[in-house]
Amino acid sequence: MKNQNLEIIRHSCSHVMAAAVLKLFPKVKLGIGPAIKDGFYYDFEFPKPITEDDLEKITNQMIQVIEADLSFEKKEVSVAEAKKIFKNQPYKLELIEDLVKEDHKKVSIYKTGEFIDLCVGPHVKKTSEIGPFKLLSLAGAYWRGSEKNKMLTRIYGTCFPTEKELEKYLWQIEEAKKRDHRKIGKELGLWTFSEYVGAGLPLFTQKGALVRRLINEFVEELQSKQGITQVWTPQIAKAELFKISGHYDKYRENMFHVKSNYSDEEFFLKPMNCPQHIQIYASEPRSYKDLPIRLADFAMLYRDEKPGELSGLTRARSFSQDDCHIFCREDQVDEEVDKALEMTKEIMKVFGFKYRYRLSTRDPKHPEKYIGDPKTWDKVEKWTEKIMIRNKIDHFDGPGEATFYAPKMDLIAQDSLGREWQLSTLQIDFLMPERFNLTYTDNKGQSARTVMLHRAILGSPERLMAILIEHHAGALPVWLSPVQAIVIPITEKQNAYGEKLLEKLQLQNIRVKLDNRGETTSAKIRDAELQKIPYILVVGDKEIQEKAVNVRVRGEKVLGLMATDKFLALVKEDIDKKRQV
Ligand SMILES: [Zn+2]
Ligand SMILES: [Zn+2]
Repeated sequence: MKNQNLEIIRHSCSHVMAAAVLKLFPKVKLGIGPAIKDGFYYDFEFPKPITEDDLEKITNQMIQVIEADLSFEKKEVSVAEAKKIFKNQPYKLELIEDLVKEDHKKVSIYKTGEFIDLCVGPHVKKTSEIGPFKLLSLAGAYWRGSEKNKMLTRIYGTCFPTEKELEKYLWQIEEAKKRDHRKIGKELGLWTFSEYVGAGLPLFTQKGALVRRLINEFVEELQSKQGITQVWTPQIAKAELFKISGHYDKYRENMFHVKSNYSDEEFFLKPMNCPQHIQIYASEPRSYKDLPIRLADFAMLYRDEKPGELSGLTRARSFSQDDCHIFCREDQVDEEVDKALEMTKEIMKVFGFKYRYRLSTRDPKHPEKYIGDPKTWDKVEKWTEKIMIRNKIDHFDGPGEATFYAPKMDLIAQDSLGREWQLSTLQIDFLMPERFNLTYTDNKGQSARTVMLHRAILGSPERLMAILIEHHAGALPVWLSPVQAIVIPITEKQNAYGEKLLEKLQLQNIRVKLDNRGETTSAKIRDAELQKIPYILVVGDKEIQEKAVNVRVRGEKVLGLMATDKFLALVKEDIDKKRQV
């Protein structure tokens, strides 16, 4: 109910914006103005281009409309009458023509003061019910999203029931800009892109590769506790494999095509590991006693994302997954799923994310998008709900979000700014085993159908790295920081002590650096802060005398003089407990 209200005030606010724009620019042509996830927009064709500076003028005009407390009046009019009302609005006339084609005899309009829009509603009763709003930005948008049509000007805005909520949202977008992983990743030197390598293909530096490896090692450690071990499979496979899996038909536009010089055989870079793992399972006869068989893989995957949609590490063409496929009997599914959810709990706790699951089911309007027996779909869709309830996990419905072969339980994590990210997915799949004819011999010696679980928890370690950077504003927890401590001698007199300290810490597996440049101490501290190094160890004569270090924690918190051994114990505890300082 709450979301519906939000939608109503936002859509009403878009009408008010259109009214204001029409008042200020009487020759403007109106497109459409829906509510969207974080606000609303309206598309206009302006006689002369406007700039961001005009937003203030529009805002002031909108305030007048809102303060006049005009009512939203709905009216049904005949098509002829509607055409008369919108005679100067070609886009509205086009929409009316569409309604005529759909056999509508009447057209619904909304009137707010002098402003009239073609609209079915619903709306608030009066403009005073619209909450505090803010116009955010301008963008170009083709009429009806088609490049064949004219480019219109889209004005984005947002609106909330209270000033506090609006302020929180505005803070969130400002903060998100500052925390953009593309900017911070560059400042911290974690990865780079090269125009010669290609767009969407990140190159990880030593530091970035280290973070990536640490994330994977952490998952690997938890996985091995559950008896899940790694396999290793090639980056390319023949088209035949993807024809059987269904990817060739349903997913080909997302796959990179590879050709051999020696045959006409078609190959593809793999977009996921599932069909390859299936081949490992199918390579031997399996008995009910062998199951479950759990295969994990951190292999690189490739997807041919649209160039315009690429975005740093959150949308890349090459990435990996903490992927695992569990081949089991149907009676083992619940236990295996519960184990995966248990591991999820542990991992999310370490990374500090709240999370919930989206139960991604079929789009009831487009059954053609899915392969397999609808009865199996029904069964699994109901099953996933039961799993969530049994494990007391917060969940919500996501119709239309399933893959072409199975419903999904999608992990949606919330970061420190309150933004939600889909990290990974858990699927109970009856279809792939059927397509590849996967079987085992049951306890009566009969051949039985294997069930396959697809399971990732982090999703992609690279993408997680991006999310963690934004979550922590670059200040990664100590265990994930590429450099955990930096030693800063006050003058070159202390350099020798600094070097000894460096060795001592390195021997204890602390990732440490020595800054013996001829810069001032304050400049060195500033640089270390910019690099988000968790511990800054300043050493002068006093520290040498006392076999100690002067500890500053990232973020300008000073712990002061501390015996070196005490510091060592402290930092090791942070690492073991995967702590953030
Ligand atoms: Zn409307
Ligand atoms: Zn899979």
